[in-house]
Amino acid sequence: MKVLKFGGTSVGTVASLRNVKNIVESQPGPVVVVVSALGGVTDMLIDAARKAASGSNEWRLVYDKILMRHEDVVFGLVAQDAQEKVWESVRQLLHRLRDYYRGIELVEDLSARTLCKVVSFGERISSLVISHIITGARHYDSLNFIKTENWFGRDIADTELTSRLITATFNDLEAGVAIVPGFISTDRDNGDITNLGRGGSDYTAALIAAALGASVLEIWTDVDGFMTADPRIIKSAYVIPHLSFLESMDLCNFGAKVIYPPTIYPVFHKNIPIKILNTFHPDAPGTLITDTHRTQVPQSFRGVSSITDVSLISLKPNVLFPSPALRNRALNVMSKKGVDILLSTHPESDDTVLEFALRREASKYALECLRQDFDGECTLADIPEITETHDVSTVTVVGENLKSDASAMQRVIHTLQRHGIEVFAHAPGSSGFAQTAVIPSDRLHEALALLHANFLE
Ligand code: ADP
Ligand code: ASP
Ligand code: MG
Repeated sequence: MKVLKFGGTSVGTVASLRNVKNIVESQPGPVVVVVSALGGVTDMLIDAARKAASGSNEWRLVYDKILMRHEDVVFGLVAQDAQEKVWESVRQLLHRLRDYYRGIELVEDLSARTLCKVVSFGERISSLVISHIITGARHYDSLNFIKTENWFGRDIADTELTSRLITATFNDLEAGVAIVPGFISTDRDNGDITNLGRGGSDYTAALIAAALGASVLEIWTDVDGFMTADPRIIKSAYVIPHLSFLESMDLCNFGAKVIYPPTIYPVFHKNIPIKILNTFHPDAPGTLITDTHRTQVPQSFRGVSSITDVSLISLKPNVLFPSPALRNRALNVMSKKGVDILLSTHPESDDTVLEFALRREASKYALECLRQDFDGECTLADIPEITETHDVSTVTVVGENLKSDASAMQRVIHTLQRHGIEVFAHAPGSSGFAQTAVIPSDRLHEALALLHANFLE
């Protein structure tokens, strides 16, 4: 049994959906196919909601575009005798969506929960339409079996409950094709519509693959595989034929957009291989991700990734060098409040400050948590100076062999500094397979190009 996931890039147009149809119909089955919203539609749904919330009726123009995109697909691909019936079901969903927009415009307010409802229409409609395009397919609704719980204001999957519900839902699949909307979910406590985060369809597919013990999770997208760098930035990036779970996890956690980061863990845990394949080039070998721990490739560096919009929080203690206790305390404060830290420096080095890199959107809250904690318990003289630097990015080099390559980080830093790129902070990842440096955002592309040219070409 296989799980295939097709992203927005693969289900964007009539032409690309023809490829999807061919790929799915050539599978022996049983097969679960997870689909995203039509490419660009999630952005449009959000854009229209924001316009409506600002009291502007311009949302109608965006809504009309969304309607036309789906109309093209229904009348371009659904069998002629079923077109009217399918369009009627789609139209009902679109009318519900329009009612939401009218309501948002009226009250000029958009709560997080309402936005979740609005964006859910992308996958609800695409999966319904695709289930009528693929011969013999049956539609299954993720809202019934992908369950989330609220964790510090974020919706995260309740993997245990979800796994049980998936097993119960698909026990009748036999040799058929199931079409499932990615991304969307419901709150386990109150049934509200939620989602797994932007790019979350990959994660839906992984949760299903893990629960059903699939033989493989295939992620079909618009590139030939997992590449040594983001091909939109580095033109000479090339496909990596084989990666380990941990290497791919590090690359994705540090910004490689090709797989949504939480995706890897459930399948890694069940030792289910992942393949990255190209919908527009289905015969290309792609990338295979497995649990092989020792790569056969002698080179240390397998890939490079980056995250923009990072903040660097610096803690300068009133003593000369920060202690490990101070670092642990700061890390505990932030993680107990649900703040994800990308990188933290180690006080063993001769630095006089401790640095924590995190996504920009989390930094205001993280600073509040830190200031509150230190304010509450320290005497005035012990309160460290806490500052924040914006406009920084992380660059991360990854490779299993980096673990035994003691000079790797020094070579990376040296390469960057030789070209005048300041390194504000650096640290290894917890797996030992990644080394990350924090640099000014305006030098990011240059840094990626340098690291790729020096270590991957
Ligand atoms: P989908 O709609 O299929 O989910 P995404 O846009 O989420 O597609 O992910 C695929 C894109 O990820 C590619 O088009 C590519 O531009 C980008 N990308 C970033 N880093 C990498 C990488 N290391 N390897 C391959 N693609 C990458
Ligand atoms: N449609 C959602 C998004 O654009 C989920 C996904 O494509 O994976 O983020
Ligand atoms: Mg994606």
